Amino acid sequence: MLKLKYWDDPYRTEFRAEIVNVVVGADVVALELSETYFHPEGGGQRSDRGTINALPVTDVQFSGGDHRTVLHYLDAAHTNLEKIKPGQAAVCKIDWEYRLLNMRSHTGCHLIYGAARKLYRELGYAGFSITGDGTGTVYLNTSRSITSEDIHKLTQLSNMAMLEDLNITTYFVTPNEVTNIKNVVYNVKLPERDVRIVDINGWDVAVCSGTHFTRTIEVGPIAIIGRTKHKKDVTRIDYAIGKNALDENMITHRAISKMSSFFNVNRNELVAHAEKLNNEVEEKTRQLKKVREKYSEYELLNSINNAVEIGTMRLVVVALRNVDQNAARSAASKLMKREARLVLCIVGESGRIFIVGAQSHDLDVNLASPIIQTAKKYGGGGGGRPHLITAGGLTGDVDTIVDDLQSTLLRNLAEV
Ligand SMILES: [Zn+2]
Repeated sequence: MLKLKYWDDPYRTEFRAEIVNVVVGADVVALELSETYFHPEGGGQRSDRGTINALPVTDVQFSGGDHRTVLHYLDAAHTNLEKIKPGQAAVCKIDWEYRLLNMRSHTGCHLIYGAARKLYRELGYAGFSITGDGTGTVYLNTSRSITSEDIHKLTQLSNMAMLEDLNITTYFVTPNEVTNIKNVVYNVKLPERDVRIVDINGWDVAVCSGTHFTRTIEVGPIAIIGRTKHKKDVTRIDYAIGKNALDENMITHRAISKMSSFFNVNRNELVAHAEKLNNEVEEKTRQLKKVREKYSEYELLNSINNAVEIGTMRLVVVALRNVDQNAARSAASKLMKREARLVLCIVGESGRIFIVGAQSHDLDVNLASPIIQTAKKYGGGGGGRPHLITAGGLTGDVDTIVDDLQSTLLRNLAEV
């Protein structure tokens, strides 16, 4: 039976074994070895890379259902089959740099999960994955949502566990014995025998088949870089590890340092300063909105001087920029209270183009048809009450729509 030696010594990068089988298929060459230190893909961890008899190993996978057959895939297009016959020696080298990244991400994941154990009374493990580039993702099932303050605490606690240099041990138990282990976590179907347990000195205890360090200090710095809702009660936590964590922290430090210098405030006062600025911007935005509304009212009043007369009615179609739909509706309604025999249409642009149409209370013309007809022509739609019609979602040129709407209204209103 194949020996999975990476469990015995995850630091071993060179070994010799015997080639026991060569699988050759269309575009596939894969080897079975008498023993292997190559970690096959599984349990959220990518497969190892390396070489066998100087031939690059492109993938390592379990084969069959017993997790005791491992296929080491070679680059089929460039493999000399003479070098890899059954019975021949296999001189194997593991890409340590890549393995190290995976071990850091993997062991770091346990440290984050252990930190989450301190924060949440009810916690479930909902899986993890590591990409082999010094980052990883762990999914936490929690009874309450994970706040940004929680992220700071998870970062601090997991880094503290790293610095405390806790001992990491692994051992095997039977499936029945798993339930006797205090606080053990797993979310996979247990093997029929030989269940592997990793215990980080009680910080985290889990059923796990991956590669771990023997001391937590080897994980290096941990930076949590993302928190997103995955599904109900499950949050996705993305993290960087080792040098990647340092790089992430440097990006944060540089940004804070630049902002601190830009605003000329101490970094401890940066948040309060940003809040103050934000309040000021909100206040200025409110004031600007009011000014724009006043200006729009003035523009509307002015436009009445250029109204087109149709019998006893007056028609105004005007373009208003820098005003949103609600403000246009409000300005039109206000004007209609004091004007008589007036039909007013505003074509505005706030993201997409909209039309607001209103008529004074002494009129009862069909405004909806020409406005909706025009809106549809430009990809929009609308509706409303007879004296206040709104259409939105139009695309095109505001001035063209103004001309078009005015022509349509002139035709329709002349028929009244
Ligand atoms: Zn593990």
